[in-house]
Amino acid sequence: MTARIIDGKALAQQVRERIAGEVAQLRDERGVTPGLAAVLVGEDPASQVYVGMKHRASEAAGLRSQQRVLAADTGQSELEELVAQLNEDDEVDGILVQLPLPDHLDPGPVQELIAPAKDVDALNPYTAGRLAVGDPTFLSCTPYGVLEILAHAGVELAGSHVVIVGRSNLVGRPLSVMMTLKGRDATVTVAHSRTRDLAGVCRTADVVVAAAGRIGLITADMVRPGATVIDVGTNRDDDGKLVGDVDFAGVVEVAGAITPVPGGVGPMTVAMLLQNTLEAARARRGLPRR
Ligand code: NAP
Repeated sequence: MTARIIDGKALAQQVRERIAGEVAQLRDERGVTPGLAAVLVGEDPASQVYVGMKHRASEAAGLRSQQRVLAADTGQSELEELVAQLNEDDEVDGILVQLPLPDHLDPGPVQELIAPAKDVDALNPYTAGRLAVGDPTFLSCTPYGVLEILAHAGVELAGSHVVIVGRSNLVGRPLSVMMTLKGRDATVTVAHSRTRDLAGVCRTADVVVAAAGRIGLITADMVRPGATVIDVGTNRDDDGKLVGDVDFAGVVEVAGAITPVPGGVGPMTVAMLLQNTLEAARARRGLPRR
């Protein structure tokens, strides 16, 4: 059996086109152009690429996008002042502080400072708490993208067993909460580096989500025939090639459906950031969200 390959790039394009239509409608009917501000500190090449991608995607969808680039030696208070200023800026609906920050800066207080109404990256503990109590404001973009991919691929979550490998605040943990909310109704196991018999745990899954950041962690013997495998991992191999956490060549022969890397979850992460910014713009003006 060879798995169906889920094309995250094509789905992201569809989502972005839908968002562009909704942004145009909001502009025409209400005179509102949603705005996203991305803060980048320093010159980390990967962060520059990510912020650039988000900027281009925002502009292509008709959003107002601004990039605030601060020097690598920027102090904590200067960064926090910028966030406070963006909180007050009426043209800004969503604020994103690109991680990682340089070592001398503490991301925690910065994320906590982002106004919950503008927290489109969903890393403020308030936002995480709202999700934890089952009343989410914004869904963090990568897990949100995974949910959209599964819905689009027709994968039924209700009653199914999902194994998420990874428990970070960015991916694994929020995804586990989202999937167990009433209405999604999955039974979720969250695995991590201390999990005993990871292979055995994964073999019990209808859906495996790999979000560990370890090349080739998920191999064919760990996947039940017909299961869905979502690869969140983005790693560079020895040749500098972008690869996931899943041994794609082996797993594709066993799984029922699988996302590739690149072209799977990554493009959806950017699309969901645009979605959150649109939702923030609507919510701030008392308009119904999606
Ligand atoms: P992270 O903060 O490093 O967390 C990794 C998690 O995986 C941890 O919970 C860790 O367990 C677990 N883990 C590590 N090695 C393991 C192993 N051998 N067996 C079982 N669990 C293991 O990483 P992250 O930020 O969540 O990112 C995970 C991956 O997703 C990375 O490759 C990252 O680049 C990628 N990512 C992709 C996107 C996208 O848009 N496609 C977005 C975000 C992240 P412990 O907690 O026990 O240490």
